[in-house]
Amino acid sequence: MSELKKHENITCTFCGALCDNIEVEVKNNEIQSIKNACAISRKKYEHALKDRTVPMLDGEEAEYEVVIKKAAELLKESKNPLIYGLSSTTAEAQKTAVKLAELSGANIDSTSSVCHGPGTMAKQLVGMVTSTLGEIKNRSDLMLFWGANPVEAHPNHSKRYTMLSEGLFKKNRSDREVIVFDVRKTPTAKMADRFFQVEPGKDFELLMALRMLVNGKTPAAENGRVAGLELEELKELADKLKEASYGSIFYGMGLTMTGAKYMNTWAAMSLIRDLNDYGRFVMMPMRGHGNVAGSEITMAWQTGYPFAVNFSRGYPRYNPGEYTAVDLLAKKEVDAAFIIASDPAASLPHKAAAYLDEIPTIVLDPHWNLTTDKADIIIPSALKGITASGTVYRMDHVPLHLRSFLEDQWPNDAEALIKIGELIEND
Ligand code: SF4
Repeated sequence: MSELKKHENITCTFCGALCDNIEVEVKNNEIQSIKNACAISRKKYEHALKDRTVPMLDGEEAEYEVVIKKAAELLKESKNPLIYGLSSTTAEAQKTAVKLAELSGANIDSTSSVCHGPGTMAKQLVGMVTSTLGEIKNRSDLMLFWGANPVEAHPNHSKRYTMLSEGLFKKNRSDREVIVFDVRKTPTAKMADRFFQVEPGKDFELLMALRMLVNGKTPAAENGRVAGLELEELKELADKLKEASYGSIFYGMGLTMTGAKYMNTWAAMSLIRDLNDYGRFVMMPMRGHGNVAGSEITMAWQTGYPFAVNFSRGYPRYNPGEYTAVDLLAKKEVDAAFIIASDPAASLPHKAAAYLDEIPTIVLDPHWNLTTDKADIIIPSALKGITASGTVYRMDHVPLHLRSFLEDQWPNDAEALIKIGELIEND
C-alpha cells in the first residue's frame, strides 16, 4: 500500500481554459480526491482510468509493437493518407504528427477546421487584437460573450478569468459590465447585465451595423430593426462600446460556424480594430478541446499554416475546403486515415465519418469511442495531464506544462508517433 500523496497545481486538459489549479490526492495509483475541478472536469477525471483501449489489429488484440509497425506500414503504403484530430494531445505529439505527415506525404488537419478554423481564417485576413486571460481578468470593465456559453461549456472560466474572478484592478462582478449576444437565452446570458437576442444567421449584419454606428454612420434598418434588434438600442450599445476603457469579446462557435461563418469573425475583428481608436478592446475565441489552440500554433510553427495542410508534393500547401478532413473524407479523396486523440465518427458529418468504414483507419487514443469501432488498427496511449506530461496551449496561447501524477502501462502519443516515424524513415 502506498501513502496518500497530494499533487497541487495540476492542469485540467478537458477544455481550452486549461485550469491549472486542480488538486488531487493519489494512493495506490488511484485518484482519492479532487479539488477545484468543475463538474465537467470532475466527471472526466473520474472516468479517465476506465474504458481504456488496448492494442488491436483487425478486431483482435495484438502486441503494442505489432500495431505500431502495422501503422507505419499502412502510412508508408498509402498514396494520399489523412492525419486528423490532434486537439486533445500535447504539442510534442502534434509536432511529431506533422513530421509523420511530411514523411508519408499526407494531409494533416485538426478539429479546428470544424470549430474555430473559420475564426483563424478571419485572423489571417484582418488580424486580431488579443491579450492574455490574466490581463482581461485584471483590467476588463466591459465583457462581451458572442455565440459562446462558457457557463455550460467552460464552467470555471468565469470564476478564474472573467466576470466572477478577482483581478488586480477589477475585483468582482460589480466592477464589470457583462453583455451576451446569442440566438437563445443561455445560462451565460442569464448571468449578464444585458442580453441581445440575435436573429439566427444575422450576426454579420449586426456586427457591420455596429461598425457603422461606432464610425458615426447610420445603417439601413428594416422597420427600425437590424438582426432582430431595435436600431435605437444598437446606437446606445455602440456608445457603450466606445466608452469602455478595456473591453473584451469572447466568441464561440455560435459566431464562427453560423451564417457568414469566417466573415462573421472578420466583422467582429474589424469592429474591435475600430474600437481601439477609443479605448483598449480585445478578442478571444472560447476554444473547446484542451489543446486545440496548440494544434494551430504547432502546425503554423512547423508548416506556416494552422490546419488543412497537404504534403503530397513534399512541401506544405494550405487550402481549407480542399485539405480539410470533412472535405477529404466526404469526397473520398484519401485512401487511409490516422486519427489522433479525437472522435470524428461522433463529430464529423455522417457522409465524412461513414467513409472511415471504407478505408484502412488507425486510431491513437487512450479510450474507446465511436471511431475505434471503425478502426483496423488501435494504438492505446497514456492520458494527457494524468499519466503523461507534455505541453499544451491555453485559449489565450499561453503554454502550460502538464505534470503526470499516475503511472500508465502505455507510452504517450508523442512516443508512439516517434516510433512510427522512425519505422517509416528506416524502412
Ligand atoms: Fe477543466 Fe475546463 Fe472545467 Fe477548467 S473549466 S476545470 S479546464 S473542464
